[in-house]
Amino acid sequence: MKFYSTKRQVEEVALKEAVITGLPADNGLFMPEQIRKLDQDFIEGIADLDFEELAFRVADRLLEGTIPSLDLRNIVFDAINFKAPLVELEKDLYCLELFHGPSLAFKDFGARFMARIMSYFVREEKEKLTILVATSGDTGGAVARGFYETDIDVVILYPSGKISDLQEKQLTTLGKNITALEIEGTFDDCQKLVKSAFLDEALRKQMKISSANSINIARLIPQSFYYFRAIAQLADRSKPVCCTVPSGNFGNLTAGLIAKEMGLPIEHFVAAVNANDVFPQYLETNIYESKASVPTLSNAMDVGAPSNLQRIQDLYGTDSAGIKKNISSWSYDDSQTKAGIRELYDKYKYVACPHTAVAYLGMKKYLQENPDHQGVFLSTAHPAKFIDIVEETLGQKVELPKALAELVDLKKESILMSTDYAPFREYLLSR
Ligand SMILES: *Cc1c(COP(=O)(O)O)cnc(C)c1O
Repeated sequence: MKFYSTKRQVEEVALKEAVITGLPADNGLFMPEQIRKLDQDFIEGIADLDFEELAFRVADRLLEGTIPSLDLRNIVFDAINFKAPLVELEKDLYCLELFHGPSLAFKDFGARFMARIMSYFVREEKEKLTILVATSGDTGGAVARGFYETDIDVVILYPSGKISDLQEKQLTTLGKNITALEIEGTFDDCQKLVKSAFLDEALRKQMKISSANSINIARLIPQSFYYFRAIAQLADRSKPVCCTVPSGNFGNLTAGLIAKEMGLPIEHFVAAVNANDVFPQYLETNIYESKASVPTLSNAMDVGAPSNLQRIQDLYGTDSAGIKKNISSWSYDDSQTKAGIRELYDKYKYVACPHTAVAYLGMKKYLQENPDHQGVFLSTAHPAKFIDIVEETLGQKVELPKALAELVDLKKESILMSTDYAPFREYLLSR
């Protein structure tokens, strides 16, 4: 099994190269050359498997011929060591909780799996691999926890004073192979530094660097596992299922589409977005126009040019009519998002983060239009990660889960740095 670029200007590559380079040279995105279907018998029996076993079987089918099954089994079992429970809110309405991993967001699935795949591929190489990541908050936490205690070094750059205290603690308190650089600038400055390092050929001759970019195929693949797990947990599979995904870069949604291509019975998807509404506009007008992103309460979805659109178009074609057969998309602003948080609490006593509330609103609309369906909306972060917004909206306290409460008293360790490339470069070479 090889991986091609969605722009098709470069040769297909093996999984190892796709994972270590992250992006093809033609600026496309890697896709598996074939999405193999699973047996119908297997899909009928998924409720009998535990999550790790199910995830392994899906991975083994998708990645056939890339990694020996036994090795892949170890990787998956090590990566997927937390649950994805399906919570029934009422008949035919379910919430799939994806926030039970170490950083309390669904990005843990991608980060943990990618870290283990990368470790596996570089384990026999003499030179140590260093991952450089710029973060505006959430990605850094998942990547830090995902790579923690692997044999890959991670250097995380974050903008000083511009991420929440808890987010900062998630990056700066681990130690060991995780180093946090606190940059006296913005997220864009952090990204610029990382980019400069990747373009610095002299540096790259002296050290091996890679990125943990969200568009890496190794982050996408494990996200398909939990769609199988969702269907496996349904009480009754006779009604057609719609999954609603709160979307920013559309990686999560794309993983669901891959699961469907593998034969998982999901009838339809809803991409629920915040005020950053490039995708629903595209579906409506068949004209794709990226925009500058606008800040919202569901800030992990503040994306004005969703990168995985290339993969969606690769699956369904660039005409939005083809996409609409599989995906609907609606946008919700901040006041609707808050009303969604309140409604989930008033109706079901369910405390949700703003991203999850956006998904709920999309799910509700779909089920109103399709009353003979059942709906699963994805909850992508623990509400305590957005505690200020949730407490203010509900007018009551939200309890910090243990994983976050423990961070409060830990001491932050970061290296303060300017936005100049020279000291950053010197630091990298001195490691
Ligand atoms: C990253 C993120 C999203 C958006 O996911 P995409 O795969 O980029 O569409 C939604 N919710 C939360 C909490 C996130 O961290």
